[in-house]
Amino acid sequence: MGRVRQDFLLLKAGMSTQTLYFTDPYCFEFEAQIIEQFPLPDGRFGVILERSYFYPTGGGQEHDLGWLGDARVVDVYKDGARHLTVHVVERHLPEGHLQARIDSERRLRHMEHHTAQHLLSYCFVELLGLDTVSANINGDTPSTLDLNNGEPSFAELMQVEKRANYLIRCDLPVKTYFVSPQQVSAIPLRKPPKVSEDIRIVEIEGLDYSACGGTHVARTGGIGVVKILRTERLKDKSRIHFVAGSRAFELFQSSYAIAAGLAAQMSVGLPELPTAMQRMMNQLKNLQRELGQLKEQALTAEARRLYDTAETMGERRVVLAAFDGRSMNDLRALGRELRLMPGVAAVLVGVQDERLSLVTVCAADAGLSADDLLRQLLLHINGKGGGDASLAQGGGPGDLTTAQSLIEAARVELLALAFNRPEQRL
Ligand SMILES: [Zn+2]
Repeated sequence: MGRVRQDFLLLKAGMSTQTLYFTDPYCFEFEAQIIEQFPLPDGRFGVILERSYFYPTGGGQEHDLGWLGDARVVDVYKDGARHLTVHVVERHLPEGHLQARIDSERRLRHMEHHTAQHLLSYCFVELLGLDTVSANINGDTPSTLDLNNGEPSFAELMQVEKRANYLIRCDLPVKTYFVSPQQVSAIPLRKPPKVSEDIRIVEIEGLDYSACGGTHVARTGGIGVVKILRTERLKDKSRIHFVAGSRAFELFQSSYAIAAGLAAQMSVGLPELPTAMQRMMNQLKNLQRELGQLKEQALTAEARRLYDTAETMGERRVVLAAFDGRSMNDLRALGRELRLMPGVAAVLVGVQDERLSLVTVCAADAGLSADDLLRQLLLHINGKGGGDASLAQGGGPGDLTTAQSLIEAARVELLALAFNRPEQRL
């Protein structure tokens, strides 16, 4: 135990590659020697270095980004067959030595989140007896870990979060070392290793032992802070979304700015914000209710006015009206009021954005079907719609002029129906 691995070596044409992020995850700049370079199918180039501190995607952690000379490293992956680390760049590089630089901001975020994941997973076992089955480490969006079963309550999550942050403040060493299969049985691993040789152990001193090939901070204090954001219930597991380190700080900054801005807008202190919001919601609900009542009263009064000025055609009271900028919902509400009035047959047309909304209503004693009337009128505008005997709705293309023509067509139609002169229908 404690052997520092220097020989993650891969033989290729007599040469070897050393992967060094295992031994020094804080090295972000190094002198690189290209030993192989080859074109990739997408036109980019794969570069193999003699030794590299770049982390390739794996173990739930995303790859590093960075530069080889002045060329951007856009992807890093393991060549599964040969165990080589492939650095993907967008153009061919000159052979020989060059300066390599890892995007330290991205790498540090991964290290913070990866170590935070170990710590949270430990706390879930310690406090709730819940095992982590997988994790996804990401420095930009929240990272996740999946618990095998159980759905922690809000109070339990707070407990786990509090314990993890306490252990961060304790600034415990995070040690890494390789062990042989014989040695591994003596280590109290949280879960069995996926590899059977050269098993790398990441130990939060004396507390948590994991087999892991990722990059981690050197002491728990390097995590800074960890915050659980939410849980998600998946089929047979619970997913925990969390942020750590600089990402957690950024989230605090932006969340605080939003909350403080809202509090200032409402002229209250931050702690009073929830009460003020609740008060505003209640006020809004009351206003909506009052507005609904007023709208209803206005519609009743409008329906009454339309009824009073309606044309009399035989036994029927015919309401014909076109409105600029009135919605279908509004017309329907007006129609519902009108159909309660004796002998009413009404045609209401609304115009909005070069579209006509058409509502026909017939009172129970009008002796007409609103649906029949609508279908007859829709023929004039090549529209679509339908309904029942008392209320029907439809629409089609048209403007205010079309609406007026439609009203005239309705007048002729209803006159014909009133005086039984179907031969004069339009
Ligand atoms: Zn790890």
